[in-house]
Amino acid sequence: MTAQTFTEIRYERPTERVARIVLARPDKRNAQDMKMLYQLNAAFDLAVQDDAVRVIILAADGPHFSSGHDLSDAGSKVGDHGPPVTGHGGFALPGPEGYFSREEEIYLGFCWRWRNLPKPTIAQVQGKVIAGGLMLVWPCDLVVASEDAEFSDPVVAFGVNGHEFFVHAWELGHRKAKEMLFTGEAITAAEGKVLGMVNQVVPREELEAYTLEMAEKIAQRPTVGLKFAKLSVNQSLEAQGLWTAVQSAFNLHHVAHAHNWVLHGQVIDPAGMAVVRNQARGKGPTG
Ligand code: ZN
Repeated sequence: MTAQTFTEIRYERPTERVARIVLARPDKRNAQDMKMLYQLNAAFDLAVQDDAVRVIILAADGPHFSSGHDLSDAGSKVGDHGPPVTGHGGFALPGPEGYFSREEEIYLGFCWRWRNLPKPTIAQVQGKVIAGGLMLVWPCDLVVASEDAEFSDPVVAFGVNGHEFFVHAWELGHRKAKEMLFTGEAITAAEGKVLGMVNQVVPREELEAYTLEMAEKIAQRPTVGLKFAKLSVNQSLEAQGLWTAVQSAFNLHHVAHAHNWVLHGQVIDPAGMAVVRNQARGKGPTG
């Protein structure tokens, strides 16, 4: 895959030392289908392998950063959009075994891979970030949000514990994480900054320029210092048990998928669909 073959994203070089990857499905609120995830992964690889690139920005076209995973893409199979990249297998096996493997690859595996890229990454965020949308923002090192940005993970309504990259307690603190999950309500950009989940909040019209300026400032520092600073902070979190906890939550996530399959014949509780849709439109939990 090259930058020219991307259809769901764009790969840009706004300056000599900065790469910008842009989600480019604004008509779908940047919902992530499998094709987009593999293109994103390829774009991150391009940026990592180019020694001229020192900082990577992840941005999005349109009014909303990402509405999460594209649930209409459930028929896509791992391998349809390129070879598996995270070392997992068994994707075509029947039952929860195959489904667990699928989500190990395209959700948990990708998030963990992107979280550990050896260069600083900045999420440039506007509008709504829902469930799987957080799985693009939270693996990034820094988050710059516009004033209208809001963050939610309403998928408890689907009968699961949360989205597949379960770092909620680290991002928000344990009480706010529970409130977000239990109520499904969104956290605003301003609240996110108070909680330490968002680095900076800026007016919408200044978002792109502010983020690029921050990236350029970071890019002036030596790559070795940046790489080891990132590793040191990431490993501090791992020493606190982050990776073990994330995997434990992922396992429970798949108990929930299997539970829903037995009760409802599908991996999520279909009753949650109306709840999540209404909440995404800002109508509250039942309206
Ligand atoms: Zn899942």
